[in-house]
Amino acid sequence: MPSMTNRSFLPLALLLLSAPAFLQAQQAPIRITADLSEAPRKLYHAEVDIPVKAGAITLTTPKWIPGNHRPTGPVTEITGVVFTANGHTLPWRRDDVDLYEYHVTVPAGVTTLHAHLDCIVTSRVTQKLAVLEWEKLLLYPANIPVKDIPIQPSVTVPAGWGIGTALTPISHEVGGILNGLGNNIHITGSNITHYAATTVEQLEDSPVITGQYFHEFPLAPEVTPKHYIDVVADEPEDSVLRPQLIAELSNLVREATAAYASHHYNTYHFLLTLSDATDGEGLEHGQSSDNGVGEKIFSDQTHQLVDSDLLSHEFTHSWNGKYRRPYNLYQTDFEKMQQGSLLWVYEGMTQYLGNVLAARSGLKSQAQYRDILALSAAALDNRPGREWRSTEDTAISASILREAGPAWANWRRGQDYYQEGELLWLDADTLIRKLTDNKKSLTDFLHIFLAKGGNTGPLIVPYNRDELIADLNQVVKYDWATFLHDRVDTINPRADLAGIERGGYKLVYTDKPNPSERAIAASAGPRRGPNAWYSLGIRINSQGVISDVRWGGPADNAKLAPGQKIIAVNGRIYSSDALRTAIKDAKGKTEPIHLILQSDTFVTLADINYHDGERYPALVRVEGTPAYLDDITTPLTKPEVVPEEKKADQ
Ligand SMILES: [Zn+2]
Repeated sequence: MPSMTNRSFLPLALLLLSAPAFLQAQQAPIRITADLSEAPRKLYHAEVDIPVKAGAITLTTPKWIPGNHRPTGPVTEITGVVFTANGHTLPWRRDDVDLYEYHVTVPAGVTTLHAHLDCIVTSRVTQKLAVLEWEKLLLYPANIPVKDIPIQPSVTVPAGWGIGTALTPISHEVGGILNGLGNNIHITGSNITHYAATTVEQLEDSPVITGQYFHEFPLAPEVTPKHYIDVVADEPEDSVLRPQLIAELSNLVREATAAYASHHYNTYHFLLTLSDATDGEGLEHGQSSDNGVGEKIFSDQTHQLVDSDLLSHEFTHSWNGKYRRPYNLYQTDFEKMQQGSLLWVYEGMTQYLGNVLAARSGLKSQAQYRDILALSAAALDNRPGREWRSTEDTAISASILREAGPAWANWRRGQDYYQEGELLWLDADTLIRKLTDNKKSLTDFLHIFLAKGGNTGPLIVPYNRDELIADLNQVVKYDWATFLHDRVDTINPRADLAGIERGGYKLVYTDKPNPSERAIAASAGPRRGPNAWYSLGIRINSQGVISDVRWGGPADNAKLAPGQKIIAVNGRIYSSDALRTAIKDAKGKTEPIHLILQSDTFVTLADINYHDGERYPALVRVEGTPAYLDDITTPLTKPEVVPEEKKADQ
């Protein structure tokens, strides 16, 4: 396999021009101390010591963050930057074109350049916990492959806070005394932990979570390498995970080991933050994942449903995304644009596998898997933007689609490569099963594609579409090039439902939400509006505000618009129930649904001619056909016997 070492396209001359002062001195690692002791005040600090020789040097902070697929480096928030050498402050100048770069001239005789910087952090920090993704504090010489820059990190946290990370701790200081550590543990009384030297590439891939209420739980202890889940929460009781959840996550480790036939990490840490006071997150890393959800999301099976694939999705990325990465999505440093054309593999296949492994592990039931698959398949099949834009174009455009708003989102399309990829890989899985009389499956492909080179430490091995096609052909001969081209590159007005149908089920619309849609709506609380997308063709909240109108749907025909607010329905003040009653009452009749709308500062009237009643997606079994979908969601390993707990409403 080609590895990244063969793929540097920066001419050596350019490297030498850009950073001579560092290159000549780079055997010694950069030392960075991240100080999170003021995290509750929304400030992180860093002290960075960079080995240098005299001359001009360009330093940079990360711009394109792996896994974000976007230029989200928080350069706006990096502040208080001061460079010093031998006790003297040095002037700096920002690059006029690349605003992430700082130019400094190192005086003669200086071997270490010191930088102090602060970062204003308003997300993923509370009074009780903090998350450090290193782009907030990293500073290193520009235009050098980040895998070639050694760095030794240390982290200071508030007294008494625990730390979770995949970094290897070597010591910590308590009141100035060094104490050796074997693993992440509670640190009481003081606060600095030193970690083994790594590279800037790996450090950026190794976030840290810290919090007052910290617990670390080992998972599937019989599996090598070791797996842990590290939890911090705003409330002490939330940081103690339920035995059933630990058992399900242990199943997840075993299922991933069986499905992917390899590991590409030395240890793996699920990092989990539970808070209602700050934002959520799901960001993959090679040896860990940064998962942030509301504080009660994993408190029971019903709440868990909405994020039941989060941990399995991010875990899968260690193989599909981190170890195997599309050539054009990988760049040798964080300044070059990451190109998204193969995100229907990186994210799409991960979306598929994350949901499948969640079902195999018991994080959700087989019935819940089908319910949620119905929701995403129906959403794609009712997204008219697919009439002008291919799935591949949503992947190429990934970096400009993430922040897109909801108005006419169905006509623009969003990051559809996730769910489109899920349907595509389900299609491929069921096709392999059909072609081989259910003797082979996508698992055989994963054993080839994800396990090349056997077990490794953290490593990036890039691929292109030709390799996917070759590996699929190794499982079963088929025209996989055309299979992928037809689903990815071309305009498809309908979603790819072939995998569901070959799997023995059919997407239908019923007059009641399926049990999982009901459970998710119930745990979302009263702010959630009714689902009128498949009936009237509007997304609406409980206050009557319309966020999107389905292109070509009944509400579009009645000229409704995003941003309007429904004040009254058939002469009654708007409520979720009033709207649902109006939809039900209009079924089979000719009288339209009468609306009074607030449009900006005006009041308007509209009549919607819609008479098909409520419509909600569900999968139903097609009897007499092979139920591959049930085979796909059956565990590959023997599940751990878990403590009894009431399952969510089926
Ligand atoms: Zn992902």
